[in-house]
Amino acid sequence: KAEQLSDLAEPLRKPDKYTIGIPLALPFWEWGVLWANFFAELGFRVFLSPKTNNRLARIGIESMTAETCFPVKVFHGHVKFLSRYAHYLFLPNMINMPTLLEKEAGFFCPLVQSSQYLVKAALGLDERRIVNPTVYLKDEFPALVRQVHDGIFPTLGVKRKKVEAALEIGLAKQQEFVSKLRAIGKEFLASENGEDPIWIISGRPYNLYDERLNLRLGRHLSKLGIKAIPLDFLDLSGVDLSDFPNMYWGLGAKILRTAKLVKATSHFFGVHLTNFSCGADSFIEHFYNHVMGGKPYLLLELDEHSAVAGMMTRVEAFNNVVQNVHQKHLQKPMLKAI
Ligand code: SF4
Repeated sequence: KAEQLSDLAEPLRKPDKYTIGIPLALPFWEWGVLWANFFAELGFRVFLSPKTNNRLARIGIESMTAETCFPVKVFHGHVKFLSRYAHYLFLPNMINMPTLLEKEAGFFCPLVQSSQYLVKAALGLDERRIVNPTVYLKDEFPALVRQVHDGIFPTLGVKRKKVEAALEIGLAKQQEFVSKLRAIGKEFLASENGEDPIWIISGRPYNLYDERLNLRLGRHLSKLGIKAIPLDFLDLSGVDLSDFPNMYWGLGAKILRTAKLVKATSHFFGVHLTNFSCGADSFIEHFYNHVMGGKPYLLLELDEHSAVAGMMTRVEAFNNVVQNVHQKHLQKPMLKAI
């Protein structure tokens, strides 16, 4: 996904006008394609912060004025990096996201919604450099145009017509990106016949795709020969979530739909990636456990420590459990026949 994101953003970097910095952290791991294309279309030079490394993470941790989860600390590191290179900083208040059903709330976590206030206070950023529209991605297109225009006009002075055209292109690129991920997932699952277990990794995009945050989990699973796929590559549109009618968080709904798909598919096994101090997941984890019933799953709770041994011990232990459960399941029809 990281490669796809930079592939889509890279050709649009034009060396004219002002540079606008977008931190490759928090919601931009999911929505970066929309915003990179949007600003490039308006004629700005889009500058993405680099992938997280220990140095960026440390800069973030050292600049914190309050204790938060690790992804928010890392976000601070990215913004501090960008503040040295980009003329403007794009730090929107992203309130909600599109949902599968209209009645779903689709909210981002409060720390994501308010991240610009946290980082502005911590880094003492100049207000005139910050582009910070308040955006409800779940709203209809005309409302979205109004929100973005009203939010960026005071700083960038871009006319509404231009915002509308650029937003249309940005949203189309975002949709194209999402479809590409689903197509890859569909192709992968179609090539499987159910004989091998498949690990379905749920979590928030910054945990799933930022390799400093997930300690390169994907690469480690691959080395162990474990087949795994993150939730964004799955089509969850057919998964009923009516037993969680008040699910407040957009990503929470995605995680629980994934859990339900795992529970309903015998060769799928769930791994949920989360962070210490994650308020939203302190609820979601219980719901995830409830959905799983007795089916084994792995919960990986990570923080700023970069040692991988602890995680791998759990991964290897879970792999043994998965192999046992899956073998028993494969043998069941045979036993019945005997
Ligand atoms: S959802 Fe959890 S991990 Fe993500 S920003 Fe909020 S508290 Fe942090």
